[in-house]
Amino acid sequence: MAEKGRISVNTENIFPIIKKFLYSDHDIFLRELVANAVDATQKLQKLSSMGQYDGELGELAIRVAVDKDAKTITISDSGIGMTEEEVKKYINQVAFSGATEFVEKFKDVDTTNIIGKFGLGFYSAFMVSDKVELITKSYQDAPAVKWSCDGSTEFEIESADKTDRGTDIVLHINEDSQEFLEEHRISEILNRYMKFMPVPVIFGKETITEGEGDDKTEIEQEKVINNTTPLWARDPQELKDEDYLNFYRELYPMSEEPMFWIHLNVDYPFNLTGILYFPKVKNDITLHKDKIQLYSRQVFITDNVEDIVPEFLRLMHGVIDSPDIPLNVSRSYLQSDAQVKKISNYITRKVGDRLNELFNKEREDYQKKWESIGLFVKYGMMTDDKFFDKAKKFCLLTNTEGEFFTIEEYKAKIEANQLDKNDNYVFIYTSDEAGQHSFIEGAKRKGYDVLKMDTMIDNHFIGNIEHKLEKIQMKRVDADIAEKLVETDEKTESVLTEDEQNKVIEVYKKALGNENLELKVEALSADEMPVTIVRPEFMRRMQEMAEMQGGGMGMFGMNMPGSQNIVINGNHELVSRILKAEDEAEASKLVRHTYDLAMLSQGMLKGEDLTKFVKRSLDLV
Ligand code: ADP
Repeated sequence: MAEKGRISVNTENIFPIIKKFLYSDHDIFLRELVANAVDATQKLQKLSSMGQYDGELGELAIRVAVDKDAKTITISDSGIGMTEEEVKKYINQVAFSGATEFVEKFKDVDTTNIIGKFGLGFYSAFMVSDKVELITKSYQDAPAVKWSCDGSTEFEIESADKTDRGTDIVLHINEDSQEFLEEHRISEILNRYMKFMPVPVIFGKETITEGEGDDKTEIEQEKVINNTTPLWARDPQELKDEDYLNFYRELYPMSEEPMFWIHLNVDYPFNLTGILYFPKVKNDITLHKDKIQLYSRQVFITDNVEDIVPEFLRLMHGVIDSPDIPLNVSRSYLQSDAQVKKISNYITRKVGDRLNELFNKEREDYQKKWESIGLFVKYGMMTDDKFFDKAKKFCLLTNTEGEFFTIEEYKAKIEANQLDKNDNYVFIYTSDEAGQHSFIEGAKRKGYDVLKMDTMIDNHFIGNIEHKLEKIQMKRVDADIAEKLVETDEKTESVLTEDEQNKVIEVYKKALGNENLELKVEALSADEMPVTIVRPEFMRRMQEMAEMQGGGMGMFGMNMPGSQNIVINGNHELVSRILKAEDEAEASKLVRHTYDLAMLSQGMLKGEDLTKFVKRSLDLV
């Protein structure tokens, strides 16, 4: 006979919350119910393996069925089922987690395969249903029962005529949730959350062809939508490269092949498995970001791992599976959770170890992939101090000759020629080989080596290296004339007296029509350019920073005070001619021309100035 009752706990307030706010993603109801079914199935397997259940296990699949006419979705399993007592206890007491109790009871055996701790799992069914029925028969010898509830706090329990073991959950889909009666919608959800669940999940049918030639027959069969033993859950020892690549393709069908990967597998002090791939990263980092999928015992949870995986590793792809990451908690809680911190540190350490191993064992290959790897490494070094310490040993620098060096190797290389008077190693770099060509040539003439620092991240990385490593000074190759890039005490004799130098400056200011220009006369070798426009490192970085932060500083362009210095080569023959010129027009023309030459060599001569320059050059010829 039927029994009516009242669901305990403060369901009056809880139900509306579940319905509306608990999960912003309504899809989740299916994940929760299928996860419960998986859980019930695994519990049975466990009992059986421990000899506490000696009945037939039979086919242990989970079935999801949609009946569009009846407007129902049914989820059926052949798991442990529930007795009437258990239904009352587990289903009626919302906050009571049967899984917790199960774990408690069997805590000395390995229960890590039991999905649980999803909180209000079962009740999420009410997000999409007017009414929920649960028909269940326990693995123990007990009559089947049917529980039903229309989403109020009233429930009904009666006996049922179910004869096979397990549980059917029937959802009577509400008016607002009719979308879930569409097969493709259910397929989509199953594919998202259930793709790697550890028990076969059956939904719909598929046609397969069997046999060859004339014997070929088409057979319709039930469709299993999941892969119950995904790669990350398998023993790394028995896997080949091809397996990893295939799995990558399965996860990201549209992506280019990854460079390499790490198989994560720990069970103490937390449980974590997973595979992380290093993708080939192009300059646009955002394209690659946030593709890691988080699972809990093979149930998809989210692809937002923001608070679990350190920022720089969010460039990696792949899967992390850990039952030890608290779910359904606030972000701020996650961030401060000690377990999550440990997990995050572990992943960082593993990534560091793998890179270190590649660097040590396969340096050539590592170098070839450096363009992509470098982004991870530099990004990581900038955002994670522990990683910095590890990575400074395998972080590579490349020069304009295409050679690779670790930081220490590079220091050794430039020690003889690029130590300044304060014993700083001056790392000279270019951010734009073509644009800074004349400077690079100048530096090379002085015997300097020039590093390439032209990726999006280098700009920040440069400051980071200087800041964290001692005695290294980074200077862009156009920060000064070659002679001055590495400051020493040596001086070149000037052929001009101080008065003459002042006069040169006056003439230049007048001829260029700008009193505010920052002009300097230097005694350079006679075969250097007569005029060079340099962008002092410090001021340039200030300007770049201002531009990046405000954007508004951009209006100063190249002319933010101090960001551009004009260096006149006092030893150049043309400069002597300017000094000695008899009429002002002649001097002015030479000034203009030497200045334009400097602009031209840096690709900065444009528009009318360029046209005039060409014309003047022709006149001269
Ligand atoms: P949780 O899964 O977090 O324990 P739920 O509200 O989803 O919470 O489920 C409550 C309990 O009901 C489960 O712990 C389990 O004991 C029982 N239960 C739910 N679904 C099933 C099922 N399909 N078969 C057997 N027991 C179930």
